[in-house]
Amino acid sequence: MTVEIVNPATGKVEYRHELLDGSGIEVRLQAAADAFPAWSARSLQGRAGVLEAIAMQLRGRRQDIQQAMTAEMGKLKAEALAEIEKCAQACEYYAGHAADYLQPQQVDTEAHRSYVRYEPIGCVFAVMPWNFPIWQVFRFLAPAFMAGNVALLKHASNVPRCADLILEVVRAGGAPAGVFDVLHIDNDQAAEVLRDRRVKAVTLTGSERAGRSIAANAGEQLKKCVMELGGSDAFVVLDDADMDKTVEAAVKSRFDNSGQTCIAAKRFIVVEAVAEEFTRRFVEAAGQRRHGDPADASTTLAPMARADLRDELHRQVQASVAKGARVLLGGEPIAGTYAGYPATVLDRVGPGMPAYDEELFGPVAAVIRVRDEADALRVANDTRFGLGGSVWTADAARGESFAQHMECGAAFVNSVVKSDARLPFGGSKQSGFGRELAEHGIHEFMNIKTVYVA
Ligand code: NAP
Repeated sequence: MTVEIVNPATGKVEYRHELLDGSGIEVRLQAAADAFPAWSARSLQGRAGVLEAIAMQLRGRRQDIQQAMTAEMGKLKAEALAEIEKCAQACEYYAGHAADYLQPQQVDTEAHRSYVRYEPIGCVFAVMPWNFPIWQVFRFLAPAFMAGNVALLKHASNVPRCADLILEVVRAGGAPAGVFDVLHIDNDQAAEVLRDRRVKAVTLTGSERAGRSIAANAGEQLKKCVMELGGSDAFVVLDDADMDKTVEAAVKSRFDNSGQTCIAAKRFIVVEAVAEEFTRRFVEAAGQRRHGDPADASTTLAPMARADLRDELHRQVQASVAKGARVLLGGEPIAGTYAGYPATVLDRVGPGMPAYDEELFGPVAAVIRVRDEADALRVANDTRFGLGGSVWTADAARGESFAQHMECGAAFVNSVVKSDARLPFGGSKQSGFGRELAEHGIHEFMNIKTVYVA
């Protein structure tokens, strides 16, 4: 089957590519299984050397990779280059820290010796999204490599060139054949791959819909899975927040990557005392974002990745407005083939509106006005999602206490929520389960084995 890749900034078909057939999949599955024994037996130092070489390759190919990201999903050039650098640093981080994370843990028992050791499990299947087409992959791949696992990637169907470039840098970095490969396949074929006995586990970053389907399949096969799903992060503004810093962070967190970030601030929960000031200044600052060619340095708001995603976002905006939300900025799609949506701010958002209940995966901010701090916490937790959240206040202790009560995987005080190789990343509630990054991430796809010598 042929798939057409449309550039979201121009509406033109960028190129066409072919999906794999059954024999193409079989060759790659077997190569992964064949590669595992030698790769997992290689010393940690040996695997770290490959990851460090991959980091260099990423930097060396950054221009090609950036161009593919911009052409396939419309990422701003500067954002793409920063993402590639972050991947290189994550490779170096895991190359440097995996030995600590994988140290056997001695445990005092009545045995002569008892300890926990971490063993790789084999081939991990990764199903990844387009929104950070390089970072999402390295976030799972760098720890998987250091764990001694091998990996197969099914990337989102609109970023095949990004997937191929990842494969090129991994090979150029010296990864042996079969240790990593890309499967250009559709979702039915992905379900078959997950059923294959040579695949031991699956990690998905994507929507709830995909999560339900893949987790059900993994459950049927009794295979370990990690689910990194959607979010509707709260951005809570308390009455003593530093308004300059808070507004700047609010705009950055909502509109970078054209709002297509799982941990973007989506619900701006503002206490009544500062609601007028915050909203006025937020609208002013958001209105400065400019659409244009994503490769042009003066563009500050990227197109969305696909026209159908833009149309779905507009449906959510219209349904929220029909239920009483007020449009303070934007709200009308841009005419023509450019798949952009204007920076949009909705005010007076409340329960029953998509802007309150669902994830808005694009440049639309929902302002929810609340009475006080207690009400802010209630609303922050009044969601089926639990990915991240932030709180803004001049009083760090007050912020920390608030953060401890937020029902999510990552609560930040006076900082936008961000991923960092040193800290675990993942969600609670319907935002998923399992963790990536840090020590927790590398252990997800390992056999945590007890050895007991009486
Ligand atoms: P998506 O439609 O779920 O796609 C993600 C990946 O899953 C793609 O590779 C897609 O393949 C595949 N997929 C979809 N349905 C599938 C199925 N039934 N079986 C097997 N594979 C399936 O999500 P998206 O639109 O690309 O990404 C946006 C979502 O991802 C948002 O909800 C966002 O919050 C979430 N996200 C979460 C995190 C996190 O760390 N928690 C990070 C980034 C994004 P095709 O492209 O071929 O359909």
